[in-house]
Amino acid sequence: MNVLVIGRGGREHSIIMKLAQSEEISSLYVAPGNPGMGDFVTYIPIEEMEIAKLVDFAKQQQIDLTIVGPEAPLMTGIVNEFQAAGLRIFAPRKEAALIEGSKSFAKEVMKKYQIPTAEYETFTDPSTAKKYVEAKGVPIVIKADGLAAGKGVVIAETIDVAFQVIDDMLVSNSFREAGAQIVIEEFLEGSEFSLMAFVNGENVFPLIPAKDHKRVYDDDLGPNTGGMGAYAPVFEIPKEIITISTREILEKTATALVKEGRSFTGILYAGLMLTDQGPKVIEFNARFGDPETQVVLPLLKNDLLQVVLDVLDGKNPNLVWEKKTCLGVVLASEGYPSNYIKGTKIPSFKKSSETFIAYAGIEKTDAGFVSNGGRVLLVGAKGTSLAEAGRYVYSILPHNHRLEGLFYRTDIGKIGSVR
Ligand code: ATP
Repeated sequence: MNVLVIGRGGREHSIIMKLAQSEEISSLYVAPGNPGMGDFVTYIPIEEMEIAKLVDFAKQQQIDLTIVGPEAPLMTGIVNEFQAAGLRIFAPRKEAALIEGSKSFAKEVMKKYQIPTAEYETFTDPSTAKKYVEAKGVPIVIKADGLAAGKGVVIAETIDVAFQVIDDMLVSNSFREAGAQIVIEEFLEGSEFSLMAFVNGENVFPLIPAKDHKRVYDDDLGPNTGGMGAYAPVFEIPKEIITISTREILEKTATALVKEGRSFTGILYAGLMLTDQGPKVIEFNARFGDPETQVVLPLLKNDLLQVVLDVLDGKNPNLVWEKKTCLGVVLASEGYPSNYIKGTKIPSFKKSSETFIAYAGIEKTDAGFVSNGGRVLLVGAKGTSLAEAGRYVYSILPHNHRLEGLFYRTDIGKIGSVR
């Protein structure tokens, strides 16, 4: 089988590492990929948003299956285009991907189908938004409606900050179209975790839960990032909570989307908060999470290609998981998540048999691999416990926690370190 993966990050590298184990694949392509993804994949210099070129390539090379990593092409309808050309693709159509692309749409669906989430209202007018904030008090959460690369969410601790954010989004248009409408919602307290599932219409097959560490510095200090590390499964979330989350959130949402005429195929990702009243949705994504995927897929015992084909065929893929823990620590460029340094030489790590590296923001130069993105790579390992996996990862990172031009969190996997 000829398989194409679209994307260039650590998530896509981890999908490729998993697919490379499949004996059914004759050719594996990535567009555009990053140069750390190895020799078993052929790099195609087409960007993720060059949809017409991707369709042409898939037709010419007789690609049997395409897997999409990032969200941006989903929103512009890459799946609709591939399907119109008679090509098989694993990801949601544009109308279903709206569950990630518009937070107000996601909230409407949750309200209509009684899927537990934070109380909210949607606004386009700043003065009505401010009146709502005054009535509800702080802390309160303000979100740009559209995609904003993780930067469109502010937890306002004071009324002044809330008003400032409302003005930034609705008056100064600092998020352009994405912030022309905002969602203001109740601040949820509890323990956050991510639950992804393979979905085809009403069929939902959950993966193991993962925990992402979003804040940039140790002890959950500093601004939110795309994710500085993760681990799976999440032992501190009881099994019954996972069962409830699957039934009351993922399955209900999949059914709701079918009823709305927006049937979802692909990976449905729920960002959840375990509150005193049970799990509630913080956000939905319409694709694999990053960095969660890098710590979840290594524990999947099944052949990923077969799983995807089964799900597309409406069959139960019978997922089987290794009884281990996987943990990953992200190395980011100094300055991230604001302006960051590029061009740092990527050190070579003394890898052990337990560890792996998922590359992300790197490029190849005459001097070897250098950084060219905020999140540069993830060092991961599997262990018989969270502590063991953590020891394996940190043992190949420098003990003084410093790498020229790069940094990482030293507390990934410490229970209680995640909000
Ligand atoms: P991502 O980068 O994951 O796509 P996003 O921009 O879609 O993020 P959200 O996931 O909605 O934003 O929010 C980012 C983070 O802000 C959450 O992971 C969570 O830590 C915090 N957050 C969001 N909504 C709430 C809420 N209602 N109560 C408490 N914290 C929240």
